[in-house]
Amino acid sequence: MSKIGRRIQKYTSEDSLKGTTKAGEETPPANMSLAEREAALQASEKAIGQREQDAMLREKVLRERDEAVQIREELGALNAAQLKEANERLVVATVRAQTMTEAAEDAAARMSHMAQHDVLTGLPNRALLTDRLGQAIALAQRHDQRVALMYLDLDHFKHINDSLGHAVGDQLLQGVARRLQACVRQSDTVCRQGGDEFVVLLAEVETASNATLTASKLIDVMDAPFLIGEHELHVTVSIGISVYPDDGRDAEAMIRNADIAMYHAKKSGHNKYQLFAPEMNVRAVARQSVEVALREALDQHGLVLHYQPKTNLETGAITGAEALVRLRQNGNPLVYPGQFISIAEDCGLIMQIGKWVLKEACHQAVSWLDAGLDIGLIAVNVSAVEFHGKDFLAGVRAVLAETGLNPHHLELELTESGLMQDTERTAETLRALKELGVQIAIDDFGTGYSSLSYLQRFPIDTLKIDQSFVHDIHDASGEAALVSAIIAMGKSLKLRVVAEGIETRQQLDYLQSKQCAEGQGYLLGRPMDAESFAAMLTMNRH
Ligand code: C2E
Ligand code: MG
Ligand code: MG
Repeated sequence: MSKIGRRIQKYTSEDSLKGTTKAGEETPPANMSLAEREAALQASEKAIGQREQDAMLREKVLRERDEAVQIREELGALNAAQLKEANERLVVATVRAQTMTEAAEDAAARMSHMAQHDVLTGLPNRALLTDRLGQAIALAQRHDQRVALMYLDLDHFKHINDSLGHAVGDQLLQGVARRLQACVRQSDTVCRQGGDEFVVLLAEVETASNATLTASKLIDVMDAPFLIGEHELHVTVSIGISVYPDDGRDAEAMIRNADIAMYHAKKSGHNKYQLFAPEMNVRAVARQSVEVALREALDQHGLVLHYQPKTNLETGAITGAEALVRLRQNGNPLVYPGQFISIAEDCGLIMQIGKWVLKEACHQAVSWLDAGLDIGLIAVNVSAVEFHGKDFLAGVRAVLAETGLNPHHLELELTESGLMQDTERTAETLRALKELGVQIAIDDFGTGYSSLSYLQRFPIDTLKIDQSFVHDIHDASGEAALVSAIIAMGKSLKLRVVAEGIETRQQLDYLQSKQCAEGQGYLLGRPMDAESFAAMLTMNRH
């Protein structure tokens, strides 16, 4: 019970004293005996005492009453304060609830906008496009009209991103988005599909040629350079077009077929548009079947490695082997990596393939070394997708530990464009590999359109001159300026230089005359199976 409660209870229980009687108040008559008088006097004194007690009690009751009134007043006052406070709290809570509701509504609206728009360009995203395309198709169906879908991809955007960095790449994408939007009608939708891919939906077109007119406009609008910081960037686009109902009756088919047409536009030389044609699907189906074959190969030991010798051009000694993967299918000729590596990269299977290749090559190297064959370096090609995967370094360490190969025998071949992505992390991974003792080679050197400063920044051991430059050497006396420049640069940077794709005596003579240290090519040895390579090594030793 509260303090006030206790005080109130005390008061009410004592309140019953209110009706106490005032006993023996009269004086004794004069005709009484002495004894009677004394008794009467005593009785009177007792009555006086009693009265005094009663008076005290009454006073006490009055005091208690005052106290009760005060408590009641206090209680009343307290209730009012509490009520006021509660009221205030209620108002604050209501305001807060209102603010929170508004914030929640804002957040929901923002989230729904974010879910439907691309953060970088503010354009509708894939989800919103699918929605609008669905609506456009339904409308076109009712009114017997056409809808055109254009799939756009910037040409060589990756080089810009890799060489100038993502910040410049992002600003370029924003600039492209603005130009595209300025080119179409209000009723059309420009959307960013992701990366450097955009889609334009023309909700009402009469014929496919209307769409091609817009496509030409979009190509032309990219003509003027984009000025980003101190850079003047030139960008072209490749466009694939699909038209409802001819090229697809639903959103998915239209997007897929426009994408396929875009791929053909790129193949036929970039900066072009291409209308979809049904035979284009054949290629897409072929891609699908390669993916299936790769999955089967991974499950059923269908991958095989061939080894191509690298040779010291002065002495003719074999300095190492490059492991090259092939796909073996029952009874069919081997399938070469040119036909499946990029598909494997697209569908992610490259991770498993890369792991298998590295392990197999290291195992093979260990068994050759165990057999007393000096293999020098075993080189393994690493795709950029693999290299930038999060477990790459751990994977290399694990394979070296599992196979027991001395890391000094392993060389990883990476391409320039692969190295130029995420350069901070690349440098870290390369340093860690170097610490392990693994060597790093730049494959197809000279084709990656990179700045050369990375050659000093990254711990690189070897440059492999791309075969296209070597093929330009037509005779020993002729000048192949790029080849000799790369050899000279490699020397001054103290890098090993290996010329790839040597096919003719003249090429070999020229390279020798320029003191190119090592070479690789059909003239010196074709890629071959492990057994043939071991035989070649044995012969080379004697
Ligand atoms: P690469 O690493 O530059 O390998 C050299 C390619 O040139 C090989 O083709 C080889 O067979 C071919 N070659 C060698 N000498 C000559 C020659 O004298 N003339 C001509 N015309 N070609 C020659 P391959 O085996 O078809 O491999 C093609 C590319 O596929 C490789 O180019 C490499 O980038 C990639 N690749 C091969 N194996 C793997 C692998 O295990 N993993 C990854 N990620 N990529 C691989
Ligand atoms: Mg290679
Ligand atoms: Mg190469």
